[in-house]
Amino acid sequence: MTTNVAASFQYHAPSSVEEACRLLAKYKGGAKLLAGGHSLLPLVKLRLATPEALIDLSRIKGLSYVKAGRKGLAIGAMTTYYDIESSDVVKKAAPVLADAAAQVADTQVRNAGTLGGSLAHSDPAGDLPAVVLALGAELEVHTARGSRTISVDNFFRDLLTTALRPNEVLTEIRIPPLPARTGTAYVKLANKASHYAVVGVAAVVTLDKAGVCAAARVAVTGAGPHAVRAKRTERILIGKKLSALVIRRAAERAGAEIGDGFNSDIHASAEYRAAMTIVFAERALTEAVGRV
Ligand SMILES: Cc1cc2nc3c(=O)[nH]c(=O)nc-3n(C[C@H](O)[C@H](O)[C@H](O)COP(=O)(O)OP(=O)(O)OC[C@H]3O[C@@H](n4cnc5c(N)ncnc54)[C@H](O)[C@@H]3O)c2cc1C
Repeated sequence: MTTNVAASFQYHAPSSVEEACRLLAKYKGGAKLLAGGHSLLPLVKLRLATPEALIDLSRIKGLSYVKAGRKGLAIGAMTTYYDIESSDVVKKAAPVLADAAAQVADTQVRNAGTLGGSLAHSDPAGDLPAVVLALGAELEVHTARGSRTISVDNFFRDLLTTALRPNEVLTEIRIPPLPARTGTAYVKLANKASHYAVVGVAAVVTLDKAGVCAAARVAVTGAGPHAVRAKRTERILIGKKLSALVIRRAAERAGAEIGDGFNSDIHASAEYRAAMTIVFAERALTEAVGRV
């Protein structure tokens, strides 16, 4: 039977991360954190998720901020897409993040949806997982007992599955400074209704003074069960001058890490996603190189 009415649950609105952590520990995996609610609440309404309790993070002061320092950007997990896309600090330090946040859904979703919620949810079609992967972010998480830092390279594990444990709250996303002569881009084939990425590619490319690629991080979303780095593409780029031919050859390998795991659904077949991964990798790389 399908229903559009949530099963009953307890509601808590803690005023600190410590209190949220204590509540998570108390429910022993039976509670869910609530951020913008744009992904979680539809699941709860359809009873695809039936948490015993929702722990609302929105009353916690100090989880929504953007700070820039020598070590790069620090962004609070409850910072909304709107706050990111409209932040001059983000536009300067990590323009691709502001640009990608502006491509999420519509104003309503961007006013409530959060960076932390997007990463913790690990939707296969989410935009920002690919962007933070390409930016080489670090994620700070808290429990009732302490904190730890997770490299974004180890964060996205499977469909809607991350390295977060059920008792952990993601609190901060840290993005290292971009080196000189770095260009960035995020491009996607957007679903016409929701704007979710059918395929999206983020590219961060650094050239040396001679125009040779010194570093590259490329990440793909929408194509497989979770966002992944396109490491074979990166390896082809590094050490070469990025002509159109080199970019094309590198883009052709952008789906290599997804292998036979391309998603196939009502929006696109696996074959179409594989083809679009190449097309959008080529576009992202060309744009990123053009912005160095
Ligand atoms: C109509 C529509 C269109 C959309 N289009 C797009 C799109 O184009 N691109 C895109 O990327 N997304 C899109 N989304 C999804 C949107 O970006 C969501 O807001 C986002 O995926 C989840 O963020 P949230 O803050 O709403 O999290 P919630 O829905 O509140 O939570 C999502 C999950 O993350 C967990 N969580 C949240 N915060 C934390 C935290 N700090 N620590 C640990 N766990 C946490 C929750 O427990 C839950 O499991 C769309 C959503 C809708 C409704």
